[in-house]
Amino acid sequence: MQGAVRPHARAIEALDAEPVTVRTPDQLAGVDSLIVPGGESTTISKLLDSSGLAGPLAARLADGLPVLGTCAGMIVLASEVLDGRADQRAYGAIDLTVRRNAFGRQVDSFEADLDVTGLDDPYHAVFIRAPFVEAVGDGVEVLASVDGHPVLCRQGPVLVSAFHPELTDDLRLHELFLALAG
Ligand code: GLN
Repeated sequence: MQGAVRPHARAIEALDAEPVTVRTPDQLAGVDSLIVPGGESTTISKLLDSSGLAGPLAARLADGLPVLGTCAGMIVLASEVLDGRADQRAYGAIDLTVRRNAFGRQVDSFEADLDVTGLDDPYHAVFIRAPFVEAVGDGVEVLASVDGHPVLCRQGPVLVSAFHPELTDDLRLHELFLALAG
């Protein structure tokens, strides 16, 4: 719909999977897994409504569609959004509460080397007006945190990051996602 779509497509291609851009319910019906990219969650939410994708997306998520949400994508997939717009949707694909723009206006963007559960070496992460996770449900595994705030979480085939894994050359999180997606 909006946001950092092409860099994700390039990462997926580099891992020998086939990226497909999804803008219509028909296109959604044809994919095996989905990435909801970073951008602006309120805009993505509106565009999902106006494109007719909101209902079909909710149905596929309820059906267990493997999905990766990055930054705004994480907000869209969360079960609860703090500091959001009252009318923005939270699809509840993963049981967590996120706070938008949580790292504060004065530190809109930063980079950090994260220790990620399951990865041998640190992961260099780019945060842009990023959210963080305030609370996680029982089934959610926290894979990385910044100052005690979860920024990478997984529940079943749903992986979400507060940062932008598509903006570096490190393909390990896309690789992990494709493995989760089978
Ligand atoms: N702050 C944005 C939002 O609320 C997310 C920023 C991003 O995706 N880089 O949707």
